[in-house]
Amino acid sequence: MKRLRPRWDLGLRSLLRHEWRPLVSRDHLRADLIAGVTVACAAVPLSLAIALASGVTPGAGLVTAIVAGVVCALFGGMPLAISGPAVAMTVLTAAIVETHGISGLMLVVCVCGVLQLVTGVFRLGRFIWFVPVPVVLGLTAGIGALVVVAQLPRALGLPPPHASHIVDVVRHIGQYVGDAEASAIALSAAAAAVTLLLPWWLPQAPAVFVAVAIPTLLAAILHLDSPTLGALPPSLLASQLPTFPVEGLLSLLTASLMLYALASVETLFLSAAVDPRVPVARHDPDQELIGQGLGNLAAALSGGLPISGAISRTALNVQAGARTRRAALVQSVALLATVLVLGPVLGRIPLAALAGVLVAVALRMLNPREFLGLLRASRTDAAICGVTFAALVLGDLLFDVRTGFGAAFAIAVVRIVQIKVAVEPADQPDTARVVLRGSITRQSSLYIEALRAEVELLPARGAVIFELHEVTALDPSGAAMLARLFTDIDTRGRTIAIVGLAETHVAQLVAADPGGRIAARMAATETDVLRLLSPDHVTRPIERLIAGAQRFQQSPGRRRRLLIERLAKAQDPHTLFISCADSRVVPTLLTSTDPGELLQVRNLGNIVPPSGDAAMPAEGAAVEYALTRLRITEIVVCGHSGCGAMTALLTRDLAAGMPSVAEWLRPAAALLARLPADATPADAAMANVVLQLEHLRTYPIVRERLAAGQLQLHGWYYDIGVGALSAWDDDSEQFVALVGATPLSASDLAADVERVDLA
Ligand code: ZN
Repeated sequence: MKRLRPRWDLGLRSLLRHEWRPLVSRDHLRADLIAGVTVACAAVPLSLAIALASGVTPGAGLVTAIVAGVVCALFGGMPLAISGPAVAMTVLTAAIVETHGISGLMLVVCVCGVLQLVTGVFRLGRFIWFVPVPVVLGLTAGIGALVVVAQLPRALGLPPPHASHIVDVVRHIGQYVGDAEASAIALSAAAAAVTLLLPWWLPQAPAVFVAVAIPTLLAAILHLDSPTLGALPPSLLASQLPTFPVEGLLSLLTASLMLYALASVETLFLSAAVDPRVPVARHDPDQELIGQGLGNLAAALSGGLPISGAISRTALNVQAGARTRRAALVQSVALLATVLVLGPVLGRIPLAALAGVLVAVALRMLNPREFLGLLRASRTDAAICGVTFAALVLGDLLFDVRTGFGAAFAIAVVRIVQIKVAVEPADQPDTARVVLRGSITRQSSLYIEALRAEVELLPARGAVIFELHEVTALDPSGAAMLARLFTDIDTRGRTIAIVGLAETHVAQLVAADPGGRIAARMAATETDVLRLLSPDHVTRPIERLIAGAQRFQQSPGRRRRLLIERLAKAQDPHTLFISCADSRVVPTLLTSTDPGELLQVRNLGNIVPPSGDAAMPAEGAAVEYALTRLRITEIVVCGHSGCGAMTALLTRDLAAGMPSVAEWLRPAAALLARLPADATPADAAMANVVLQLEHLRTYPIVRERLAAGQLQLHGWYYDIGVGALSAWDDDSEQFVALVGATPLSASDLAADVERVDLA
């Protein structure tokens, strides 16, 4: 696996060459202007609300948004992403401010920025993809719940609680709930309702802006006596610098690590959350972390609040038609203009309206639909999500919010250790095999991104074989993500082959690929795979056999090595298995047996000529050898559905030119007398099994062992289509089910399958 070289230039060379040029172009200027102003409309109330919830001055929120907009737009790895203060960070930020003050927070944000910068420079961003989705969902929902509780006093118009701990807040609400102000409730409810409902109707409009503008106008017109934001200070820049305290250093360091983890996960989750069809989804996680790190450093020095990628503002940016990084820059300029021109108006925003917006955003973070999707796809994942949620909220309940975050991050670390994306070298040079297992659904996006990051590290012109035999479920978003992953890899010069996907899923995948490239990359067998990977030279079947033999030799595993070591000395099979030579009937696969367990006889129509037929001694020889020299205690005669030999016998279609076949099927000819005129090939195959059991009993050694109770005879019938086995029952004189049919589309089993490697 190739190692990535550190990005010492912070990605400047590549940014200059490819990314900054559109900034000065006239193309899309109008679109970027409209989108930037739209996002600024949403960013004003959100930044103010987040600042209030974080326990810093409202101005700090605006400055952070302005600075982050510029720095992240210039240095980030996602062109259309909007970064700034985020609701998801408020809980942790407020806790840090409460313990360490503003200067402590600035230091923590600085350290967080440096850590992000280092992660990006050393190209470690892809490891963040391994944070499991259920943990991210549980964490986000937990933060949402904490934000809702924290904002309730303000939304209800109660006096502010003395402490931010969830127990104090709940007790405070209980104590003062009688004093709730009707006007505050009306304003916050209106703000929350608009925030939640307007995007349904008008996704390209800044709902948060409308949600705050309406209550502000109402409060002004009706002369409501509701507390307002108050005038912004003349200089928004922080009046102090981060100080380096001697006490509480360890506590500051853990806070920095938590902030780093949360901000980085939030940021990278952004690209998975935004509609994959827009260019923002094509991103560079390392560059994004460099941008975020620089953004956090700048934010710490100017305003104080930490930043991360903001999902709703990014989505709004895309919806409003942004085309380049310029939209985020326009947003910052518009924000600055708002502060300078509309400062006094901002001061009249009722606090209850801002609280209402925060409650609505936090309620959306609870995301019950994602949780239900998780529950349908995998109960284990749903449990992980629930445990993370509980750890965060209970940790806060019992101790403080940092215990909660610590517990949630601990769960993430444990889960990361358990996940592995199986990318293994294959037998051909420069070829890797990727095994996907479990259900691939909307929740798998981060794993798909992790896989993409792994594949990026493979040799540039190599080939990738995707083995999807164990993919149990695929939903439309899963199919879309896979299709995009495959086409991306395919268009970047690597050859791909996809093998082992169920028929229904193949149709889904092909439907999700408008470019129509994937259909041609589907392979049913390993021979198809070889043909796809080396189309220029015709692969002869014997080469496929040799490649297979090489793979067998190289297949790892202590179990196999030990087995071969033991088998080198002698064989000690327990069963003589007599089956048809048909290529689809493979006794060892059928019975999951290892080498050394089955002595096999395979011929056309699983026939055992009666004892004493001197012209056909082969089968008799095997029977005699099995019972005399080996310690065989079972003989199975196994017929199967769709048997060509039986069809030939029934239709008496022993075509000219096959005298040997005609002669060989002679011991089965007695069947014709036993079967009704309208017998099917399946009837013939079953009756044939019974007939061959009778032939077996003509051998003296068989009769002797049967009489001594040392041998059992079994007649089996294998239905290829459904994979079912039935066995002949001597007492009831019929075939009875032995192993039930398994449905080929196993989507109904998906819920019970632990999602192992990938999803
Ligand atoms: Zn057959």
